[in-house]
Amino acid sequence: MPPATQQSYDYVVVGAGSAGCVLANRLTEDGRHTVLLLEAGPRDSYPWIHIPIGYGKTMFHPVYNWGFYTEPEPGMNNRRVYWPRGRGLGGSSSINGLIYVRGQPQDYDGWAALGNRGWGWRDVLPYFRKLERNSRGASEYHGGDGPVWCSDIGARHELMDAIISAGEEIGVPRNDDFNGATQDGVGYYQLFTRAGMRCSSATAYLRPAQKRSNLRVETHAHATAVTFDGTRATGVVYRQHGLVKQAHAAREVILAAGALQTPQLLQLSGVGPAALLQNIGMPVVKDLPGVGENLQDHLQFRLMYKVSSPITTNDQLRTLSGRLGIGLRWLLFRTGPLAIGINQGGLFTRVLPESKTPDIQFHFATLSAEMAGGKPHPWSGCTFSVCQLRPESRGTVTIKSRDPLEPPAMRPNYLTREADCQCAVEAIKFARRLAAAPALREYLSEEYRPGPDTVRDDELLEFARNYGATIFHPSGTCKMGSDPMAVVDERLRVHGLAGLRVVDCSIMPTLVSGNTHAPAVMIAEKAADMVRADARADT
Ligand SMILES: Cc1cc2nc3c(=O)[nH]c(=O)nc-3n(C[C@H](O)[C@H](O)[C@H](O)COP(=O)(O)OP(=O)(O)OC[C@H]3O[C@@H](n4cnc5c(N)ncnc54)[C@H](O)[C@@H]3O)c2cc1C
Repeated sequence: MPPATQQSYDYVVVGAGSAGCVLANRLTEDGRHTVLLLEAGPRDSYPWIHIPIGYGKTMFHPVYNWGFYTEPEPGMNNRRVYWPRGRGLGGSSSINGLIYVRGQPQDYDGWAALGNRGWGWRDVLPYFRKLERNSRGASEYHGGDGPVWCSDIGARHELMDAIISAGEEIGVPRNDDFNGATQDGVGYYQLFTRAGMRCSSATAYLRPAQKRSNLRVETHAHATAVTFDGTRATGVVYRQHGLVKQAHAAREVILAAGALQTPQLLQLSGVGPAALLQNIGMPVVKDLPGVGENLQDHLQFRLMYKVSSPITTNDQLRTLSGRLGIGLRWLLFRTGPLAIGINQGGLFTRVLPESKTPDIQFHFATLSAEMAGGKPHPWSGCTFSVCQLRPESRGTVTIKSRDPLEPPAMRPNYLTREADCQCAVEAIKFARRLAAAPALREYLSEEYRPGPDTVRDDELLEFARNYGATIFHPSGTCKMGSDPMAVVDERLRVHGLAGLRVVDCSIMPTLVSGNTHAPAVMIAEKAADMVRADARADT
């Protein structure tokens, strides 16, 4: 189909997620350039996006969530694992769990040690400080006046306090700041909230920029291919309301469609492993074998407990009076369960002998459900979710056909490496040690899952394979570097092509030891400076 309309901008950014909204703001703030931001999904007008507990409402939403599934996973007894991804302004930052953890300094020093100059901890910390408006104010580790609000949880919960005491009883230090001097420890999380409302990338970055005359935001605009003149990217073809349109990029096309759809779009544009492209009859623009490789994710194991008294969020959500009560609390004080996504606190520690820094992370919820974001159980319950921070398993994202609307095949290859299996078993054992500590004795009445019959290491591993689920951090599919499998260089330019960058979680050479929204924003803040510097150098 020929394009129905033509438009020209300096930059065309694909994807209005955690990273894309940052680019839209930063690249238009000095007024020198024009930007078109293309987003496949709708505006973020659904109220439950903005009320933190709405996490449960968007988890399976057919409009605001892509609702992907992996291919049958060999390490998970051939289960297809559900992979939610945000769709619409804000992307995954509009549906995520709001937990603010940015990883360990060693993660970024590791990126630099791989040859990526300018990505060590000392280089990226200023960008983390720039993006952040911490409710505790500015400090060596935190920003005080950035666009992203990071707030303390308003009210404490006695069960979470007991978990912290239990951690201390088994030798885990209390930590009031997982983004401070050390990540080790147990404590409350900070959340991406502003006065009890979600602070997504759309709220933080797009809203303040939307009235600028040099920014155009198109929703329901699904990019289907990058166009090239030889090896120079010239624009993007997209579908919107049944029409095929084309946008021309005078300077650059910037892909920020996330770690699943950025490699998909590159492959659909003829950029990827030549054999894969030839197999489906796609003309090869550039043979880049790393596009869609190096997929990494955090796999969570959710231990659930029955709680002896009706103090959990399950109890509050079960009755009309409970729901009215928490609704009123949120309306009046902007605190309580509605102001928290699902998880309240965390714990970082080491379970593998060779680890020098924490290798597992907990997310504690005063709520339980069969699936994350699912309907709460009809009894008082809580969840200890634990994940390995630096998995060795590597997977792939590959297109199945030339149809741009067909989801790609996603194969994380969970639990296919010995170290990951060992970590899973040790993590579950650690969770049980925590649950058995004296401070939790009066609270936890029964382990619902895995349950008392799951005892031996092989049984624990089987539980991990049968019930493990993503904690939503797929990354690394267009990795930054200079080796043959790298897709972008340290300025995030696609190797061997001009006028094309990738700016989202795809570029991580290794997955960070924490949650991935703040890192995605940091990557985009840093990329915006590089894009602007390159534009200045050209003039
Ligand atoms: C359910 C869930 C819970 C999470 N919880 C947390 C948490 O508590 N804390 C945390 O730090 N991280 C969390 N994460 C992870 C974090 O939100 C993501 O890693 C991060 O948002 C990814 O940013 P991104 O910019 O790479 O991609 P995204 O934010 O996913 O943005 C990609 C955007 O591109 C759009 N797009 C895709 N393809 C196309 C196309 N062809 N054309 C046009 N637009 C397109 C998408 O619709 C989307 O808006 C969670 C994620 C999920 C899904």
